[in-house]
Amino acid sequence: DEGLQKTKTSFFDQLSKAVAGRNTVDEAVLDDLETMLVHADVGIDTTVKVIERIEQRVARDKYVSTADLDVILREEIVALLDANSSATGSRAILDRPDSPGSPFVIMVVGVNGVGKTTTIGKLAHRFHSAGKKVVLGAADTFRAAAVDQLIIWGERVGVPVISHGMNTDPAAVAFDAVQKGVEMGADVVIIDTAGRLHNKVNLMNELSKIKRVMQKVIPGAPHEVLLVLDGSTGQNAYLQAQEFTKATDVSALAITKLDGTAKGGVVIGISAQLQVPVRYIGVGEKMTDLQLFDRTTFVNSLFK
Ligand code: GDP
Repeated sequence: DEGLQKTKTSFFDQLSKAVAGRNTVDEAVLDDLETMLVHADVGIDTTVKVIERIEQRVARDKYVSTADLDVILREEIVALLDANSSATGSRAILDRPDSPGSPFVIMVVGVNGVGKTTTIGKLAHRFHSAGKKVVLGAADTFRAAAVDQLIIWGERVGVPVISHGMNTDPAAVAFDAVQKGVEMGADVVIIDTAGRLHNKVNLMNELSKIKRVMQKVIPGAPHEVLLVLDGSTGQNAYLQAQEFTKATDVSALAITKLDGTAKGGVVIGISAQLQVPVRYIGVGEKMTDLQLFDRTTFVNSLFK
């Protein structure tokens, strides 16, 4: 997993340094581990949970060797992520039989700059190259660049983009995109939305209006609300996740920019805390730089 190399090396180096010359997992080792997890942006709540679980194991087994610490750590973190099944939602689209007339609708939310448009392009490529029919909706009408960029991605991938231009009604764009998806017999419709967190009430109203309008075409839409977070921003990503879960019912996460950061631990904290599955991770700027999140693979690459 070259994309995650940076995340991997940093935590492993820290862990081996922290336990060098110490044989037993004792309070001091756990203290150091706690600090490391917090620095890796696992988040305080999740860190405390992990440490408590390891403490319970130490109490039960009487003696735990530091040589086993990385295995134990991995097991405990995977267990925390266990509740979050990630092989559902939009991840299951490739396994769905083609279903003309009832596309799977993904509404993508997230603040500007996190990699929302890029992630939509990558997703479109993923579905399109697997033979699925994809329609994109440019409902981030607040920024001209967002509309233009989505159109460019559509051309690059080879899928249609429904756009009314800048400053138009985002709900109308979403409506047309879903409608077009139905007409075209599309398998997937992906709707970009504006991420203006500084006005929470507006954001909430806009997202609920987009949903309401889509539901006039397909009652169950959107089938997934995918929140895109920048994994390199650490605590900021947490705050954004909290704000967005207040504004709308986020059902899945995509974490971007994990190629250039040692802060991959943020993924664990956010997913465990919000109980929302991580479906995708972004590991670069190219169309193909999107990986399916697998908790065991991820934790393994993070912790050795
Ligand atoms: P948006 O404003 O949220 O739509 O963000 P964009 O999709 O325009 O992305 C912002 C910048 O982040 C662009 O330069 C992207 O190429 C870059 N980017 C997006 N995803 C990733 C990723 O997974 N890794 C890296 N290294 N860069 C990314």
